[in-house]
Amino acid sequence: MPETQIKLHNTRTRKKEEFVPLDEKNVRMYVCGPTVYDRAHLGNARPVVVFDVLNRLLRHVYGEDAVTYVRNFTDVDDKINARAAESGRKIGDITEETIGWFLEDMAALGAREPDAMPRATEFIPQMVEMIEGLIAKGHAYEAEGHVLFAVGSYAAYGKLSGRSIDDMIAGARVEVAPYKRNPMDFVLWKPSTEGQPGWDSPWGYGRPGWHIECSAMAYELLGESFDIHGGGNDLMFPHHENEIAQSCCAHPEGEFAQVWMHNEMLQVEGKKMSKSLGNFFTVRDLLDHGIPGEVIRFVFLSTHYRKPMDWTAEKAKEAKDEVSSWARKLSGNEDLLQSTIDPHLCDSTVVEALADDLNTSLALTRIKQLARFIDNSPEYLSLSDEDQLRHEKIFASSAKLVGFDVIELARQELDRLDVADLEHFELSLAEERLIAIESKDFSKLDQLKQALNDAGVEVQMSKSDIKLTPRSDFDPSKLEALR
Ligand code: AMP
Ligand code: ZN
Repeated sequence: MPETQIKLHNTRTRKKEEFVPLDEKNVRMYVCGPTVYDRAHLGNARPVVVFDVLNRLLRHVYGEDAVTYVRNFTDVDDKINARAAESGRKIGDITEETIGWFLEDMAALGAREPDAMPRATEFIPQMVEMIEGLIAKGHAYEAEGHVLFAVGSYAAYGKLSGRSIDDMIAGARVEVAPYKRNPMDFVLWKPSTEGQPGWDSPWGYGRPGWHIECSAMAYELLGESFDIHGGGNDLMFPHHENEIAQSCCAHPEGEFAQVWMHNEMLQVEGKKMSKSLGNFFTVRDLLDHGIPGEVIRFVFLSTHYRKPMDWTAEKAKEAKDEVSSWARKLSGNEDLLQSTIDPHLCDSTVVEALADDLNTSLALTRIKQLARFIDNSPEYLSLSDEDQLRHEKIFASSAKLVGFDVIELARQELDRLDVADLEHFELSLAEERLIAIESKDFSKLDQLKQALNDAGVEVQMSKSDIKLTPRSDFDPSKLEALR
């Protein structure tokens, strides 16, 4: 038994439950990934960050090598076909480029890569095999080149989302097609015309429906029963409901996922993010506008994953101040920057908060407390160097558990300071002050102070001392002109 008992809210049972993996030596998690035809928007990043924290926590509790985390890429989809048609580009070029962007943007948010990132197009034979099995068992039927899953053949259909058939029909905006026996039946395979992506199959040249890919890839990579399945709550119905139906009917010997976890949606300034409202951002838009990945992560984790999360400029600013203060505080301690951080130094309150259904906002509150203690408090100053270092290591280790590499951030801060060479400006200020006192003209000194302030440097001058401290809005490039 591990030392920490994780509790997770399970959509399937609608309860927070003690998490007991099927196999402690191989905890298995599947998360639905993006459809790849465009840059990830800010909402797409929420499940990535949420399940990244869970991945880190599971490894902390069960061991670095005791977790298998799978997240797919949907690289066959009609939205991708449409993008190819309107741009005149090849489908493969679009999906390859988008996957590259996605990995780059998510890495900027500090998300570790999953152990496997299967692409749907690489698992077509497995999907065909699963569909054949479903037909053989009487759960699916062929009609006019399509293969449909017969929802009526699976009594538990709708259980995950707790919907009635009427709700489901309304929610899914089901396509009524003449070849469907029941309007709720969904597509496992559909015919492709020339120019559309397609593969030969027992039902002719065609391509899979969306849902079957996750069932086939989860079975192939994690087996018929595994521990956790995650995604945004917009996927609960119909996607996850359909995954369960396919997997449990194809492999009745298994139970598919034990725990289902769903993150709530992200909004922007209180409104649904949409292109027509002009509040639609990609992750890249924010990164390119000077909002670093760790700031985006901080804002995300301030809200519990089961609550709607509101992205606001105000929150981003507060997060930027907080995270920059961490980097600044640690950048002064060379010993710390040289050392490797033992992940098990992590503060127990942080671990317990995360183990309580990923209470990331409580974990962050505690991490902020640990940070505030550094440097500022008389207690801290009274500690020996060794004890100060130990405290800083506990802070760094705790921040790492939620995905902030504060040692790396501190190193970057040091590099920025090296480049900026603030000592040079301290000397200039001292010189200008002497000149001003002699000439009784303070205008040049004031100008220099103002320019430093505009570049994000706080200027403190006393009779005996001049101290320059970069603030979170510090921009070294603005100092270039002053040299
Ligand atoms: P998609 O590429 O649309 O299939 O979405 C990829 C992932 O992003 C899924 O897990 C969705 O649930 C999630 N997602 C999409 N929009 C949002 C949003 N506004 N907030 C949170 N998650 C979202
Ligand atoms: Zn899926």
